[in-house]
Amino acid sequence: MSRRFDLVIIGSGAGGGTLAHALAETGADILLIERGETIPREPENRDPAAVWKNLRYRAHDSWLDGAGAPFRPYMHYCVGGNTKFWGGVLYRLRREDFGEIEHVDGVSPAWPVDYDTLAPYYDRAERLYHVHGDSGDDPTEPPRGPFPFPAVPHEPTVSGYLERIRAQGLHPSPLPLGLRDIGAPDGCVLCDTCNSFPCHREAKSDADVCCVRPLASYPNVTLWTGALVERLQTDGSGRRVVGVVVARGDDRTSVEADLVAVCCGAVNSAALLLGSANGTHPDGVGNSSGLVGRRYMAHLATMMAGFHPFRRNPTVFQKTVAINDFYLKGPDGGHPLGQIQSQGRTHGVMAQTVVPIVPRAFYDYWVARGFDWLAMTEDLPDPDNRVTVTADGQIQLTYRPTNEGAHRRLVEEVRAMLRGLGMYIQYVHSHNTANTTHQCGTACFGTDPAVSVLDPYCRTHDVENLFVVDASFFPSSAAVNPGLTIVAQALRVADHIRDTEWRRPTGVGDQVEMAQGESG
Ligand SMILES: Cc1cc2nc3c(=O)[nH]c(=O)nc-3n(C[C@H](O)[C@H](O)[C@H](O)COP(=O)(O)OP(=O)(O)OC[C@H]3O[C@@H](n4cnc5c(N)ncnc54)[C@H](O)[C@@H]3O)c2cc1C
Repeated sequence: MSRRFDLVIIGSGAGGGTLAHALAETGADILLIERGETIPREPENRDPAAVWKNLRYRAHDSWLDGAGAPFRPYMHYCVGGNTKFWGGVLYRLRREDFGEIEHVDGVSPAWPVDYDTLAPYYDRAERLYHVHGDSGDDPTEPPRGPFPFPAVPHEPTVSGYLERIRAQGLHPSPLPLGLRDIGAPDGCVLCDTCNSFPCHREAKSDADVCCVRPLASYPNVTLWTGALVERLQTDGSGRRVVGVVVARGDDRTSVEADLVAVCCGAVNSAALLLGSANGTHPDGVGNSSGLVGRRYMAHLATMMAGFHPFRRNPTVFQKTVAINDFYLKGPDGGHPLGQIQSQGRTHGVMAQTVVPIVPRAFYDYWVARGFDWLAMTEDLPDPDNRVTVTADGQIQLTYRPTNEGAHRRLVEEVRAMLRGLGMYIQYVHSHNTANTTHQCGTACFGTDPAVSVLDPYCRTHDVENLFVVDASFFPSSAAVNPGLTIVAQALRVADHIRDTEWRRPTGVGDQVEMAQGESG
């Protein structure tokens, strides 16, 4: 016999985990379904070879690229989703990102909400995910109050370089970072296995630690792990979703729901909607616009490192600096180029994955003297960049990056900056199209059902009790990391569900987040 819930949330990452946490206090009967398991605390958590060479935590999926060639996407299926492996760089979009922006390859479209609409939810999101920061030096920072936690201090070598970066006329600022209880006995120790590693102390602010674990004390919330949602089921009219089909091992279960929130990440959410096509939704559930799966975006990202053969870099936690001088316009006042961030320290074994034939000793020597950076440029929505599902159920991702000219220019600016720091070689490794880490845009939100999949509260235009609450809703990708915006919108959707579906008072979730933020 199938079970019935008030709300079924599919996926426990930034969108789903946050949504479940925000609605737990309502007392509603909630089922959170996650295809992966909880990442265990084990020595491999902080072992670069396990993470980067053996890909211990990487999803085993095989997707097809546009030409039909298989590739293994940079994805993680576990409680907390990809947030378990993120760098915890938790940025607000800039105020300008919510309006139209002219880029070298076209226009980045406006969002159906503005910065002021999302600002109170960014405040809550930063408290919930323990964000550390200080906005004084960032020329692009939107209007805001103080961060809930002070900025993570730069290590001495980084501070020394910052003086010289300022002397080049740039404005480095602290990276906003979600880290828990820095320096406390069980807290963050600012180590060199943060970005791309699951935190061995569980002190990184991810959706598992911040949102899903606290749910254990709510009897009204049930978590199923190792449970893959295969299909959404709609009623005869097609206007309502009535349930989902879940595979747990060899078992198939039907779960009935009053409301369903699809939070599987931009690619998997699109695949689930498309793969659930039926008589009333022949092109996929919620897809009367034809846009489900289209407008896939991923940032253009290049890892860079300056190198000086005679200068060792003793920095452990290096990911503390942002440079946003070229975010809104290039150095000549032209089109935006994107964002520059310092990166966590590269480990020899990580660098060796790029050209494995070169001996490890060379890489160890190299990375000990390197200073690592990331250049990141906005990708624009193109309907031909899309997720589809093949007849045998395989995901196909057809993608060609946009804005490559702007990105090349940004990389040149970072090279120039590193040269100015006296670095001899500026090593560059461009992430290719298999880098799905910042995927977004496959079910964009908007006010017009003809040109958007979701309404401004992430409810599908076509199916009245179906929401998509993850990176899918982004109409543009901006050029800052997407996580905090997903979390903020999930909190906003939670308020909307409370107000419109359950008519329970708002503000309860605020108290839970405040209490957690204050404890940090
Ligand atoms: C190495 C790395 C570093 C990153 N660093 C940053 C950073 O510093 N800052 C930042 O903002 N962003 C960062 N990101 C990106 C960020 O992690 C994602 O933008 C964010 O997690 C996306 O949230 P989401 O809710 O869309 O999806 P996810 O967080 O990926 O959650 C989706 C969840 O759905 C589950 N799921 C999928 N399909 C199904 C199904 N059919 N049934 C059941 N469950 C399903 C998945 O297992 C997963 O748990 C990083 C990502 C990676 C991989």
